[in-house]
Formats: sequence, C-alpha cells, structure tokens
Amino acid sequence: MFNSFTDNKFFKKEKCRLCLSSDLELVSEFKSTPLANDFVPSTLLDINQPLYPLGILFCESCSHVQLSHVVNPKLMFEHYVYVSSTSQSFVNHFKDYEISILEKYSPTPNSLIVDIGSNDGVLLNFFKEDGFKVLGVDPATNLAVEANNNGIETINSFFTYELSDNLTRDYGKASVVVANNVFAHIDDLHDVTKGIYKLLADDGIFVFEVSYLKQVITNNLFDTIYHEHLSYHSLIPLLTFFDNNDMAVIDCEEVDTHGGSIRVVVQKKKGPKPVNDSVGNLINMELKLGLNTIDPILSLSNKIKELNEKLNSLVHDIKNEGLQLIGYGAPAKATTLLYEFELSDQIDYIIDDNPLKQGLYTPGSHIPVVNSDVLRQDIVPEYMIILAWNFAEQIMENNDNYLKKGGHFILPLPNLQVY
Ligand SMILES: [Zn+2]
Repeated sequence: MFNSFTDNKFFKKEKCRLCLSSDLELVSEFKSTPLANDFVPSTLLDINQPLYPLGILFCESCSHVQLSHVVNPKLMFEHYVYVSSTSQSFVNHFKDYEISILEKYSPTPNSLIVDIGSNDGVLLNFFKEDGFKVLGVDPATNLAVEANNNGIETINSFFTYELSDNLTRDYGKASVVVANNVFAHIDDLHDVTKGIYKLLADDGIFVFEVSYLKQVITNNLFDTIYHEHLSYHSLIPLLTFFDNNDMAVIDCEEVDTHGGSIRVVVQKKKGPKPVNDSVGNLINMELKLGLNTIDPILSLSNKIKELNEKLNSLVHDIKNEGLQLIGYGAPAKATTLLYEFELSDQIDYIIDDNPLKQGLYTPGSHIPVVNSDVLRQDIVPEYMIILAWNFAEQIMENNDNYLKKGGHFILPLPNLQVY
C-alpha cells in the first residue's frame, strides 16, 4: 500500500491532492523537522529521530494549499496521543455538534452514524445516547481499544474505499458520515471520498470539520504547519473536488475549534437537500480575501521570515548577556516553531502543565519537558518564550508572579512581543 514512500517513510507530492494537477508552486520551504508529536522518554534519547522535509505548495489550477511531502501515516497515527475527551471544551463542542446535526438535518431515527477518525468515540457517544446505531473507524490502536471498552464499536483501521465496501456489507448504509480533524490528515482524499459515497445512503449527509486556511493566514498560525497536516483547506477548491466526486457542498460554517475551522456539509449530487446560502456567502468572503490566489499564503511565508530575523536577534542579545531562556508549553506545533526559528539549542528546558508531557523530551531536539516548580523559586530564569502562544493570555495570568520576580515573557506569535 505504501510503495511510493522512500524507505517506507515519506514521498514528494507531485500532484494536487484535490484536482490532481501538476501545476504546483513551491511557496515556502521550512526547515526539516522530526514528527511533531514524537516526544520521547529518557530511555529513547540514544535513537536519532529522522527529519522530514516541510514545504508548502500552492495549486495554480484549483488553489489548494498542501505540504510538499507526505510522511507515511503509519508513523504518525497508529499510536495517537491526542485524546478528544481529555478536554472538556472539546466534549462540549461535540455535544453542540451532535445537536446541530439533529436539528438541521433530522437523520432517520435509529439509523447508522459513522465517524471516520472517531478518536475515543466522544462524538458517537452522544448519537448513541439519542438512539442511533454508531460505528467508529480509527487507525490508532490505543484509541480504538478505549472506545470499544466504552461501548462505542470502533474498527481499528484507516478508512479506505476498500473498507467502506466491507462496512456497507456488514452494517448497511449510513445516514450521516462525520470526519473531524482528519480531512487535512489524509493523502488520498479521492479514495476516502469514494468510500464515503459508497457508505452514504442516497439521502445521507457527510459532515466534516477541518482547520481553515483563512485562520492560518489571518492569525499567523504557521506552526500548525507540520507533517500530520497535509492540507490547508479553503472552501473554493473543495467545491470542485466534491463536484468531481459526484457530490455537492450544501452548507458550511466557520467554527472556532483548533484555532479556527470550517464545518462543511456534503451530499450526493442527486441528494434531496437544498443548498444553503452559507455556501455562496463563504465563497464570496474567500474571493474578497484572495484565498483563491497565491498571495495570502506567500505573504504569511514572508511574515514568518521577518519574524524569524527579529526573534533570532532578540535571542542572540539574551544569550550574549549570559541570561537564561526557557520555554512554556510543549504542544505538537512547538516542533515547527523550535526548528524553523532555530531555538532548539537556545532553550534549556520547557515547562508544560500536562503531567503526561512532563519527563519527556521534545522530538529531535530532546529539550526536557518539566513541571512549573522552577517558577516558584525565588530566582527565576530571565526569559521564558511562550511556545503554546495561543494560550498566552492564560499562561501569563496564571504566572503573573514570574513577572514580579523579574522574569520576562516572550510571545513569538502572532507578533513578537516581550513583557
Ligand atoms: Zn488543485
């Protein structure tokens, strides 16, 4: 299945994932990084973690934005550390999500709902409570086991056309197929979409949420660019993609998960539901922002280069004065930031409040991740760069004593600031 991977690890993308055109423009080449989620325990520090190329391609034909290289998904998703139910705000989000689907689309009572990339079954659980038959599909063995133990039947596999054939035979057609935060993670979207078509009842809907390119650009979320995220979706290229797959987008909305996402509703072309005005409205907004052109993603790339220079000169000054620099927050996206801004050798350690991360070392660069005890000492490190910068406000609020003790926060993004 993965014949095209170099040494089974990665390959260079030669065609647009959505429209299959070869007319691809290389917008930006970031520094190669290890896999963003590959934090390691001290026992594995001797093993050299491979670096993978990280570039951004713009499709001149349909305007889709995608990574230049595809890492073998088996390396990233067969043991997945991101568990949806650990965050109460996610649990609430999925409850609202379920209610919204029921209210807007009234799927047939007791019908089958399938979740692709179902994680620990958090969304399906709500459908199950409302009397639906539910089935999850997830490649992460740890999550599939957990979901099955909790009574959410989950197939431990990647979703493919071949699998959809078996599922349709064994479980029948689905009234709703959902896929959240997976549409950006899949290389062969044509195969998956063919499978969704196969699995869907003729009056069924496919609903997915995925990070939105608009937010990546307007909020400088360049550090969400890492190997798990193969695609940076906007609506316009997706319209053509679904049209080519005999499906049609009938509704869409912006939602605030993962720093800004879109929820898109799709049905078979022959499906019965009308197209909501939201589709035209979002297209108009994307045209106004120029998301159908290379300019916004190119300007993000240029902004990052400028920021890189400023941050490097600041870190250089700090080090020249013999002062200490540490980090706060070790999310997956810190990996892109640490490598692109060449911070790996400058940061002594990183504080993270998640006990599961404490005691581990960052991917590749092996910076220790520790608890926040050090901030309670009388003398604190002079500078602390907030790597989980999307939570900066909360982090600074929780640690206001650090400032009083003479420490300085560095906020790298969306604009470089020192407090
Ligand atoms: Zn394209």
